Amino acid sequence: MQRFQGKGIAGGFAIGPIEIYKSSETAIICKRIEAVELEVQRFYLAIGQAKIQLKGLYEMAVQELGKKDADIFEMHILLLEDQEFQEFVQKMIREKRVNAEYAVMAAGEYYSKAFAGLEEEYMQARAADIRDISVRLINILSGKEEQQILAKEPVILVAEDLTPSETVRLDKEKVLALVTKEGDVNSHTAILARTMGIPALVGVKMPISGTWEQSLGIVDSANGYFYVEPDAATLEAIRKEQQSYLQRMHLLLELREQETITLDGRKVQLAANIASLQDLEQVFDNGAEGIGLFRSESIYLAARTFPTEEEQFRIYKKLAEKMQGKPVVIRTLDIGADKQCDYFVMEKEENPALGCRAIRLCLKHPELFKTQIRALLRAGVYGNLSVLYPMIISLEEVRTIRTLLQECEAELSAEGILYGKLKQGIMIETPAAVMLSEELAKEVDFFSIGTNDLTQYTLAIDRQNAKLEKFYDPYHPAVLRMIEMVVMSAHKAGIRVSICGELGADRKLTKEFLAMGVDELSVAPTNILPLRKFIREMKVDNSK
Ligand code: PEP
Ligand code: MG
Repeated sequence: MQRFQGKGIAGGFAIGPIEIYKSSETAIICKRIEAVELEVQRFYLAIGQAKIQLKGLYEMAVQELGKKDADIFEMHILLLEDQEFQEFVQKMIREKRVNAEYAVMAAGEYYSKAFAGLEEEYMQARAADIRDISVRLINILSGKEEQQILAKEPVILVAEDLTPSETVRLDKEKVLALVTKEGDVNSHTAILARTMGIPALVGVKMPISGTWEQSLGIVDSANGYFYVEPDAATLEAIRKEQQSYLQRMHLLLELREQETITLDGRKVQLAANIASLQDLEQVFDNGAEGIGLFRSESIYLAARTFPTEEEQFRIYKKLAEKMQGKPVVIRTLDIGADKQCDYFVMEKEENPALGCRAIRLCLKHPELFKTQIRALLRAGVYGNLSVLYPMIISLEEVRTIRTLLQECEAELSAEGILYGKLKQGIMIETPAAVMLSEELAKEVDFFSIGTNDLTQYTLAIDRQNAKLEKFYDPYHPAVLRMIEMVVMSAHKAGIRVSICGELGADRKLTKEFLAMGVDELSVAPTNILPLRKFIREMKVDNSK
């Protein structure tokens, strides 16, 4: 038996076979090939297919973003046509008798290193493009876009690390638990795992070994342990703990239809943070009073190309309809920094967390933003929808958003397409927004406090950096004072305020938040019932 310690993301236990996750780049095996000419042909067929994919992406990007941003895909086509690159691969297949995947990987590494070593910045930037086209070719050659979980029964997925887009693309039915060597509790990957409601551990100090494949594993995310090939006594003990955990969860089910109200009569709305239509089941299972945060970027992260207005409309409409009049808050696209889509090539930035992300990116690409807004407006006919804008720092941004919203409304009217009025909200997750909260409150219908980013930007601590974990202190008086200030500004203007960051589920602060007057807490679905129980058993004012 081996036991490793990590940080638990979502409570609960999982017992099952281990599968090692391999990202497409690491999964390439060098194979000896006899029919070399066929292998060369396979390489050329893959080039043809990659060009078709890129042409499609180019056309879509021209429509959504304009010609300038679409040019990257044209450039990738040119790189694919490069004689030197093609000859390198052919020669390697013929002379070394290796498979095309391996030869492409070698060519990708060779040329990306060569570009990275050049003087000119423009040429250095081509290194990433070479890697991109190599990965595209390898994916086509190996017939998979990312790892498919092949096991019949659900597995404990063990990975060095997972990006947010790899996480959202996982087949949730087949994942019992997630265990990663890298990562931290505040990263988006961890948050997405928590939303999925499966036990997860990050930052597990373990030397991942191929011999673990299909071995029995245990994830004890309550205590932060990952076991490989547990002995009988451990297995027995964890089974018992798992049973009692499940029983405790079961008992909470009776609170599903109950109000979230303290013993002294303070009512708070308890809503769910979700990232996909699949998560809706958990919203109902856990008796959420609404959806306080739908992270719409997961639609973009899971997609292969830009999601169209129609595709998005269908998702938002379904959310609105399924929630039957209960509030649904959809946050507009929040990508950038750690959340990257492979079809939306963003410029490399020195400090991506302080870079072109979230609303900045959307306002830089108004066509992309308007596609989403139109889809949301159209879905607004089918339920109680609100829209929430991330990473706001100024009144100007709010006003620009309003102009774009009005443009979308006017366009839909002119086209004779029905749309609904959407309540307008902003995320308060930068110190600038806190300081301007009185003014901002006069411009919008509600605030939602994103404590994950607010902590990051207030304390100047990268939330992704596990080494800074002990400095990332959401209980810091500066953060708590900011939250209080935002609540006061909101209520002064007569608007509602919610907390949708991870701190909203932290029971050490529930009383303080309720005393401040927070109107809503929006938390991962599995946190709802334990939090409701806790609130129903507490008093905000102990003197009563
Ligand atoms: C936050 O920053 O608190 C938040 C809810 O947004 P995200 O975690 O998706 O950045
Ligand atoms: Mg945020």
